[in-house]
Amino acid sequence: MTTALTNLLDLDPAQLVAYCGELGEKPFRAKQLQRWIHQYGVADFAEMTDLAKSLREKLATRAHVTAPAIISDHTSTDGTRKWLVDVGNGNAVETVFIPEETRGTLCISTQAGCAVNCRFCSTGKQGFNRNLSVGEIIGQLWMAEFELRKTKGVEPGPKGERQITNVVMMGMGEPLLNFEPTVTALKLMLDDNAYGLSRRRVTLSTSGVVPMIDRLSQECPVALAVSLHASNDALRDGLIPLNRKYPLYELMAACKRYLEFAPRDFVTFEYCMLDGVNDSDAHARELVALVQGGGDGKAAVPCKFNLIPFNPFPESGLKRSHNPRIKAFAQILMDAGIVTTIRKTRGDDIDAACGQLAGEVKDRTRVQERMQKMTEYQQKFGKDFGRIVEISE
Ligand code: SF4
Repeated sequence: MTTALTNLLDLDPAQLVAYCGELGEKPFRAKQLQRWIHQYGVADFAEMTDLAKSLREKLATRAHVTAPAIISDHTSTDGTRKWLVDVGNGNAVETVFIPEETRGTLCISTQAGCAVNCRFCSTGKQGFNRNLSVGEIIGQLWMAEFELRKTKGVEPGPKGERQITNVVMMGMGEPLLNFEPTVTALKLMLDDNAYGLSRRRVTLSTSGVVPMIDRLSQECPVALAVSLHASNDALRDGLIPLNRKYPLYELMAACKRYLEFAPRDFVTFEYCMLDGVNDSDAHARELVALVQGGGDGKAAVPCKFNLIPFNPFPESGLKRSHNPRIKAFAQILMDAGIVTTIRKTRGDDIDAACGQLAGEVKDRTRVQERMQKMTEYQQKFGKDFGRIVEISE
């Protein structure tokens, strides 16, 4: 009988200790292993020179370190770098790196496809394929950090300059509907023997899965972003079907509860600007009333707004709000004392768009055909831009 090999990227720090225990090894071996994998980017056990030879040999027959394979890798003229990675059975997800002067943000995916089906999101139009494993989620960070270091000639290990300083879970999928693997991956991001990121520099973005927001506050509170996109329930029901299950007053209440545990003292509300749909002055005033009344007319939800110019795609039937409208909308929020940013566009020459490129990759068998489709897609929609931008400093 053959036993399946364990992918060590699937294990959080506690699980790695338990795994080493099963091999008859002391807990400190788990720390050493973890540092080799997550700080030095080493996948070959033979290179882990401070591990006993007997342990390296044992690991070579029982375990492996494997991140999702890179299908494509493009860098924009503004430095934004986008990878499409293979997560098996013809599914691919996107990982996007956005460099800025004082930080480098990685946007990662948590599911292949998405079941939430927001009207303005091309990922939702693909439907749900499957949840990503821990290894596939943390593997995006692992792959990106060490690919970036290789490109810049930065040495691996804790002494080398870290390329990724912030992570946003804002790529494909609803992270809170893939809860356990997402939280395990978050714990690895925060662990000092892995990536050592502070909770403030890791942001989870949700469409509003209320019970899971509460669970996250208990199990791994990181910075929270909420895809709001509407100022009342009737509008939000039409844009985000999940709102029928968890309406705005419940969502606002969950945000307030979350802030008792969160590393930041505000929630970031994302608001996609849709021409003639949700972008009027009246909508802006309704939003102010919503967040300042906390959904129940009682306490406000401390928050910031991030206005996102919509990224049109063929089947949506929606259009991007014009820039003066976006500015006027932002002004109403700012006049009410709410910190508001308008998302900058990045990576527009490499099609760094949420879900769009992977959405074309439906071929379940042949990589060559996928590559051809991606090229065609980029030629067709080469001027789309990403939904990604800075969320936290
Ligand atoms: S916006 Fe997010 S939650 Fe909504 S369909 Fe797209 S990926 Fe899913």
